Amino acid sequence: MSARASDAAEAAFARLGVGDEFADRLRTPQRELTVQLPIVGDDGRMRVVTGFRVQHSDVRGPFKGGLRFHATVDLDDVRRLAELMTWKTALVDLPFGGAKGGVAVDPRTLSPRERELVARRYIEAIGPAIGPRTDIPAPDMGTDATTMAHLLDAYSRVHGYEPRIVTGKPVELGGSLGRTVATGHGAVVALETVLDHQSRTLPAQGGDVTLAVQGFGNVGQHAALEAHVRGHRVVAVSDVSGGWHDPSGLDVPVLVSALERAGELAALEVPGARAIGSTDPLFVDADVVKPAALGRVIDGSNVDRVVAPLIVEGANEPVTEEACAVLERRGVTIVPDILANAGGVIVSFYEWVQGANMLAWDEAEVLARLDARISAATRQVLRQAGEGGSLREAAMDLAVRRVVHAMQLRGTA
Ligand code: NAD
Repeated sequence: MSARASDAAEAAFARLGVGDEFADRLRTPQRELTVQLPIVGDDGRMRVVTGFRVQHSDVRGPFKGGLRFHATVDLDDVRRLAELMTWKTALVDLPFGGAKGGVAVDPRTLSPRERELVARRYIEAIGPAIGPRTDIPAPDMGTDATTMAHLLDAYSRVHGYEPRIVTGKPVELGGSLGRTVATGHGAVVALETVLDHQSRTLPAQGGDVTLAVQGFGNVGQHAALEAHVRGHRVVAVSDVSGGWHDPSGLDVPVLVSALERAGELAALEVPGARAIGSTDPLFVDADVVKPAALGRVIDGSNVDRVVAPLIVEGANEPVTEEACAVLERRGVTIVPDILANAGGVIVSFYEWVQGANMLAWDEAEVLARLDARISAATRQVLRQAGEGGSLREAAMDLAVRRVVHAMQLRGTA
């Protein structure tokens, strides 16, 4: 492994003059685990899948990061995403560090029983390295609240009942209200804070902002719904099957409930809308584009087709470094992933706080706290960027400075 952080972090180290004595501690994860997970499948045969947990930095608090089940996940992916979590938790000022987990398995090929076994073997394998004050997993691609319930159960069987070992668990087991909508909701709060700063008239004051969303899962749907409720015009949405475009605005709540029945957007009939492909929302004429599906969807090969003046990153790293540079030269504002999709980890923190204090806030309280934290972080990023500066660089500078400052405070003896 080359001792190098992400390009964005290396650039921040250089801008801030962070010396190697600190940077080197952030260039490699503090700990990496690759584990073997043997399971007996429903066909009675033993198979072995590989799991990973990368703990990048706990200098500001326990390691925190999701666990994904995905056929092609590897140690490099998990390492990159663990580092990203260190910057995300620091930027929104949570007392957590950064981690990520992965299991190289396609969850669609597993029965519910096999999926539960994978979760249990994973916790057994990484158990010694995690704990409610050490490392706290959460759901990510291919995992959900049910997976978290199985992790909680497997951990609690050894250590005694411990709901704080995971976040994103079912509300009945100590999960937080508001967790499901948190990432999409937070993205719209960050967006409105940026629009307000740019002196755009928000829909609540009679303005008209159009939005196109790629990816219509948890993040995309809740962002589109929140934008719709606040009066923004959602003109395009897509999922892996295709999507819909209507410049006069889609009826998002109707789309969401129709999708629940049909399973995919391409199977719907949407009167007045034009059927489009899964990547088309990235390139339609809209004020705001929100890539909320996969990483690296806007790159050097297609960046010239992006016409929106504002991009709000919903997925992690949906715009490559190369494409970001081109877009920012063109004056496009990019609200970076570590800010725009931090709503999920913020409410994970609230879940952990509620668990630690044996209390439960109602959804309005959770979302009010989320709004306050994400709009404060957005204003800090805008201030740091100054007039016309890059929000991505400003966000990284704030995050890196906080992590390095914590190292300085904690000492090195
Ligand atoms: P999800 O699985 O609920 O939804 C993903 C959506 O993307 C689905 O609608 C899927 O059909 C669509 N999609 C997949 N491939 C596509 C393609 N090629 N073109 C268009 N659409 C495609 O996942 P999610 O929880 O909404 O997460 C989306 C992204 O946001 C992921 O990259 C995830 O890591 C990131 N993220 C999620 C959260 C969270 O709280 N859920 C937090 C931070 C970051």
